[in-house]
Amino acid sequence: MTDRKNLIVGNWKMNATHLEAIQMVQKLSYRLEYEDYERVEVVIAPPFTCLRSAQTVIEADRLRIGLGAQNTHWEESGAFTGEISAPMLAKLSVSHVIVGHSERRHGFGETDEMVAKKAAAVVGAGMRPIVCVGETLEQREAGEAENVVVSQVLGSLAGLDSGAIAAASIAYEPVWAIGTGRHALPDDAGLMAGIIRETVADRLSSDAAEGLRILYGGSVNAGNIKEFMAKTNVDGALVGGASLDPDGFAAIVRYWV
Ligand code: PEP
Repeated sequence: MTDRKNLIVGNWKMNATHLEAIQMVQKLSYRLEYEDYERVEVVIAPPFTCLRSAQTVIEADRLRIGLGAQNTHWEESGAFTGEISAPMLAKLSVSHVIVGHSERRHGFGETDEMVAKKAAAVVGAGMRPIVCVGETLEQREAGEAENVVVSQVLGSLAGLDSGAIAAASIAYEPVWAIGTGRHALPDDAGLMAGIIRETVADRLSSDAAEGLRILYGGSVNAGNIKEFMAKTNVDGALVGGASLDPDGFAAIVRYWV
């Protein structure tokens, strides 16, 4: 038994204006009860432009919804037009930052080395990284899924010490399952989560492996969440499309009801 608290994160991707975000946060809060927050750490990761509004609602209404960001740059400041730094996010009460999402790895050329620098910047600014890893369909079909994921895990955590890894999360998100409606088999997700924890224990630190939360992501919805959460090494979920509907996202958070 471990004392890892379940973590369910809503990745809004490039959706919602700051005005819509206010309504979405409020609606979500109406659907969640004390017991939900006791069982699950709930985090939303809206676009950067929504963070200040979401923070204001969360603080004004004393909500127990955590605030996440979808990306960061690894430098603190400087000539990086269009980028946002980790200290800027920390000042907005952001607690978690997604790094290395497959849409960034594959759409914007992010490498493990860049993801590692981002994760280190997140930790340096006092927040927790949610490091995304996952194989493509071609890699899975070629029998390469495990090698790919292990190599992404080790490469992406390279700059973190054991305490930081223990406080971090890894989201196992097979690329072919993201936004496709085609989720991984819960058994396969559980198996890969076990491989990830074993890799961290054997190659980095067993204490870190115990604390590290491993999430599954890829077409999670209210109908399938329970099966993923039943897997020993799955501590939560990273939810994309289904997190945009506050009712649906609340139903995912309340998977245990
Ligand atoms: C994601 O964006 O991380 C994700 C898993 O998306 P979806 O739930 O839409 O597949």
